[in-house]
Amino acid sequence: MGRVIAVANQKGGVGKTTTCVNLAASLAATQRKVLLIDLDPQGNATMASGVDKYQVDATAYDLLVEETPFEQVVVTDTTGGYHLVAANGDVTAAEIKLMEVFAREVRLRNALAAVRDNYDFIFIDCPPALNLLTINAMTAADSVLVPMQCEYFALEGLTALMDTISKLTAVVNADLKIEGLLRTMFDPRNRLANEVSQQLKKHFGDKVYRTVIPRNVRLAEAPSHGRPAMYYDKYSSGAKAYLALAGEIIRRDELAREQA
Ligand code: ADP
Ligand code: MG
Repeated sequence: MGRVIAVANQKGGVGKTTTCVNLAASLAATQRKVLLIDLDPQGNATMASGVDKYQVDATAYDLLVEETPFEQVVVTDTTGGYHLVAANGDVTAAEIKLMEVFAREVRLRNALAAVRDNYDFIFIDCPPALNLLTINAMTAADSVLVPMQCEYFALEGLTALMDTISKLTAVVNADLKIEGLLRTMFDPRNRLANEVSQQLKKHFGDKVYRTVIPRNVRLAEAPSHGRPAMYYDKYSSGAKAYLALAGEIIRRDELAREQA
């Protein structure tokens, strides 16, 4: 049964897209079937997957608003070895048009119902806002993965996000879980980062992934080459960290299955 994971944080620039692309590629490299849904009108995950957002036939807009069949929207040829639902500026219109449609919060969930079992993992790259697109992601998802930088206001932002998640949970998705908190762009020499990291572990315990994503220039460069970092520089610390994260997620899943 496919697991749907929304990658969300209302803050921009915390590593949501980088996490989606590199985690999707890492899991695909282990022969898992992976789908990445780009819900950000900026289309960064689309471009980073080697797909030209200006050339795609269909996007998440078509899936959500026009109810175009999934098969006509999905891109099966990406540089990361996963499938992709692309995004570009059109998705901005989806946010507005969704206001007028019936069952506007469950559009994505309905669109995925028939195909989710074709995948082991489905990741949703959310925009940096708590809008209808993000609400669609959280309604469709089993869990939320939150990437965050260990900086001064990080915990405050996290509290706001958790608040929203639990409110949403009550209304549209009572089963939504926290998949995990991921420390991104981490600099171990930064004292504040280490302090925030400690607080995070104190508050959220084993919800915090053991794997830490370091600040690594290769992760920032790879998107302009239209590739996940592991296919740009496989020896980079960034590529290795996301492979480790994939391993951690697989092990957690196996453990959960044994305990079930
Ligand atoms: P978001 O999707 O949350 O807005 P991004 O994944 O786009 O965040 O990351 C923001 C910027 O930081 C991008 O330019 C990205 O390439 C860069 N970046 C992300 N993670 C790292 C990292 N671990 N090390 C260095 N640069 C990173
Ligand atoms: Mg992004």
